[in-house]
Amino acid sequence: MEKRINGLHHITAIAGDPQQNYDFYTQVLGMRFVKKTVNFDAPDVYHFYFADELGTPGTVLTFFPFPNARRGKHGAGEANIISFAVPKGSLDFWIERLSFHGISFDGPYQKFGYNYLSFLDSDGMKLELVEDNVAHLTGWETNEVPRKHSIRKFFGVTMYLNDSEKTEVLLKDVMGFRLHQQEGNIKRYISGTEDFEAKVDIIVNPNAERGTQSAGSVHHISWRTESDTSQVGWMHKLKAAGYHTTDVIDRNYFHSIYFREPGGVLFEIATDEPGFMIDEDRENLGQSLKLPKQYESRRTEIEKILIPINQNSLKIS
Ligand code: ZN
Repeated sequence: MEKRINGLHHITAIAGDPQQNYDFYTQVLGMRFVKKTVNFDAPDVYHFYFADELGTPGTVLTFFPFPNARRGKHGAGEANIISFAVPKGSLDFWIERLSFHGISFDGPYQKFGYNYLSFLDSDGMKLELVEDNVAHLTGWETNEVPRKHSIRKFFGVTMYLNDSEKTEVLLKDVMGFRLHQQEGNIKRYISGTEDFEAKVDIIVNPNAERGTQSAGSVHHISWRTESDTSQVGWMHKLKAAGYHTTDVIDRNYFHSIYFREPGGVLFEIATDEPGFMIDEDRENLGQSLKLPKQYESRRTEIEKILIPINQNSLKIS
């Protein structure tokens, strides 16, 4: 069978203040904080992971929070909207919730037949909550966000490009996406298995200025592959198609290769295994600072640099 990407694995973005980032995603959006670690390439910066109860691939939004970072400038050559799927009938709950927290939003509108709300996170990153048939998926529950309305997974991601021709060839001919539909100026591509299907919306504006990455910007999009073996298969396939990929990098919770798509967005392909329970059990995910073994000997020094965050505000029901 033709190889296809199994949907999204995670999306990584840049944030400003770590506490503000933590509060927004755990408190306002009710996601589970499943891992507190550091940027493996720069261990003086946190790496936060927000997801469903289990850290299931396809639900995981991660951040590098830089205290006092200035905001990025949104523009072409980047992923500029992250969309989350919530169960059908949930938008009224979210309208009330966002209003309660003083977060302005647009919508509900419809795109490709799906109802959605659009708003910004605490660093100005564009988010959407999209109603979909996802009530049977795991989600998470806090005492303010009941499971019946909670975020289940990524619905998809929007890429804003100066030119999409080569990007579309990559998605279709190499990564196995199919063109689903076009609506207005948006082309929607889809790949993945039914429950964890991912939509990639492409908007082209040849005259748009390029974005500048900083707080509130998506850093990269990570696609899902089942195993180390299938990952090597992707590496060969990408190299044969003329893409330069990195070697496999051990990210402790998954193994990764990276390459830049022709429109400018950094892509990663990450394995489902070993997952977030490799160093913490299910009940305690995200509760303590986890360091990969190469940094464990520097723990005292690293803990001095990182600003502690207050996780007690996380009210788990
Ligand atoms: Zn990544």
